[in-house]
Amino acid sequence: MPPPRSQKPKKTDKRGSRWSPLTPRSTDPWSSFTTTLALIVLLALAYSYAFRTDTTPASVTLSALATDIRAGQVESIAVSGNELTVTYTDKTEKKGKKEPDAALTETLSSYGLTGEALAAVQIEVKDQSGFRYWFFSLAPILLPLILIGVFIWFLSKQMRQGGVQAFTFGQSKARMIDPKDTAQRVTFSDVAGAKEAKEELTEIVDFLKNPKKFLDIGARIPKGVLLMGAPGTGKTLLGRAVAGEAGVPFFSISGSEFVEMFVGVGASRVRDLFQMAKRAAPAIIFVDEIDAVGRVRGTGVGGGNDEREQTLNQILVEMDGFEPNEKVIVMAATNRPDVLDPALLRPGRFDRRVTIDLPDRDGREEILKIHARKKPLAEDVNLKVIAERTPGFSGAELYSLMNEGAILAAREDRKKVAQFDLIRSIEKVMLGPERKSHVLNKKEKEITAYHEAGHALVSSVLPFADPVHKISIISRGRAAGYTLKLPLEDTKMQSKNEFLDDIAVSLGGYVAEKEIFGDVTTGPSNDLQVLTALARDMVTRYGMSDAIGTIAIEGDGGRALFGRGIGERDYSEAMSAKVDAEVKRIIDEAYAKAKHIITEHRSVLDAISRTLVEKETIERDDFEKLLIANGITPKVKKDIEHAVVA
Ligand code: ADP
Ligand code: MG
Ligand code: ZN
Repeated sequence: MPPPRSQKPKKTDKRGSRWSPLTPRSTDPWSSFTTTLALIVLLALAYSYAFRTDTTPASVTLSALATDIRAGQVESIAVSGNELTVTYTDKTEKKGKKEPDAALTETLSSYGLTGEALAAVQIEVKDQSGFRYWFFSLAPILLPLILIGVFIWFLSKQMRQGGVQAFTFGQSKARMIDPKDTAQRVTFSDVAGAKEAKEELTEIVDFLKNPKKFLDIGARIPKGVLLMGAPGTGKTLLGRAVAGEAGVPFFSISGSEFVEMFVGVGASRVRDLFQMAKRAAPAIIFVDEIDAVGRVRGTGVGGGNDEREQTLNQILVEMDGFEPNEKVIVMAATNRPDVLDPALLRPGRFDRRVTIDLPDRDGREEILKIHARKKPLAEDVNLKVIAERTPGFSGAELYSLMNEGAILAAREDRKKVAQFDLIRSIEKVMLGPERKSHVLNKKEKEITAYHEAGHALVSSVLPFADPVHKISIISRGRAAGYTLKLPLEDTKMQSKNEFLDDIAVSLGGYVAEKEIFGDVTTGPSNDLQVLTALARDMVTRYGMSDAIGTIAIEGDGGRALFGRGIGERDYSEAMSAKVDAEVKRIIDEAYAKAKHIITEHRSVLDAISRTLVEKETIERDDFEKLLIANGITPKVKKDIEHAVVA
């Protein structure tokens, strides 16, 4: 089984596991464990040695001793504390103990010994004030204490290493990449595409390399650079590349790491991080996912986390506190620039903003090339074709695609990655793995077939919709079936007519189900969400509704714009009702269009769904033959680019 896709894009981030943490870490946690264990065993041995009842010389009880003295066999007794060393006339030695706090003679006389009998024995009392005495009297108290101390020391060490950091929670958890560490060095050559971003950042690199040149001429050095872009577009990668190019230490921390369960931790971590960076200057501080702490303050969005606000304030304070010649640059990355606090974007803070777009066709090919570097490719591999078929893919998804291809080849015991592997991986990355085990029953299969046939038919008939590339009723990810469409070109803009046809195509599945079975399933729920959102955007953002007119009443981020909380709109209830009516009108018209096509071409719909039930997947060529056989002319469009309708 290949690992689940969701982990893929993060893979290279896992290079982080090679990052050196700032607290030195012993290479193997077990070694410290065994050292500690050995120490404990040694101490225990010493303890038992010191307090063993010495058995080597035979021991003698007090009553036996009394008998022996009476019998005149004892020559001398040495008393040391409570220990007795008895020397017999035959020169043998025996150990014994006397009662504490009682003189030996007293004790012995209580055993009935007379003074004469005792006088025959030399009794020597030894002084006990030496080291031995103190050691033996203190050790029973001290040794357990030492053992407990060692245990606590060991535990705290383990916790630090395990990342629990219960004893050091105020310290920054930043990882540092040392510029001298060539193994994990990333440079601009590892980042494909993103040309504009790289150009912008080259300036930063220049400054870090040669700050004097800029300072001499009185230029103010940028303090903050904000990288903005969709997830997986390589923001983190670019951050590291800047550090790699400049050859300066790179301190990296994720926004969410500032905020933990203890109040005040975030702010103290920020202080710590900035201090470390200043000590290492010139250096880069990289705050990944800064939206985790940098959201608009005081709106209550995200629970109104006080801790987060304090952390953000501390970041602002630190950035303001930079001396003009302090050679520390703060870089931050986010995929939600719309929710950031305006204070962050003020001049003197993150005033440089670099947008990283999803890669275009050439960019995608370059990214594929980078990730194909260490993979042996078969001769038939054409990365250009793969790049053409992956519009909208992020760098991370392309990385994932390459990796999936390699996994497929390895699973089939081939030594090289073939084009075929890569093509199959496209759909896998786009829609999740095929779920062949997810068996539909006969009825479900029929419904799904009509649903997908509905999408495909409407898409083939409407002039502004994209032609169909593939239809399948094999479930993938969460979709029961899917229809892949090919847009005409790698376009960045879409027109109103295209949107309207798109909405009708999305409705095709719903309409087909309703017309054929007189009932609808939960299947089209995702279609409905997508098309409703699209219709709403047409009305509120793109000025594509005549009734509302050419105004954008909502921004990119929906309603949670700067300084405003969710639910607050800057338009009236009346306007809101008008918007709803327009959205409904657009969808109703698209519905009528789809319904008309489906009733008019009912025989084609039946033919497509019959083939689907039989074969489960129809590729483009077969689909077009099917259309021609039924009197519909397929659109002639270049064989590129996918879009997907589930
Ligand atoms: P982000 O931080 O924007 O979410 P990352 O920098 O973590 O994205 O990118 C994830 C992975 O995707 C990278 O480690 C890299 O393997 C790949 N990747 C993304 N963009 C690019 C690119 N432009 N060139 C090469 N690889 C890329
Ligand atoms: Mg990232
Ligand atoms: Zn659908």
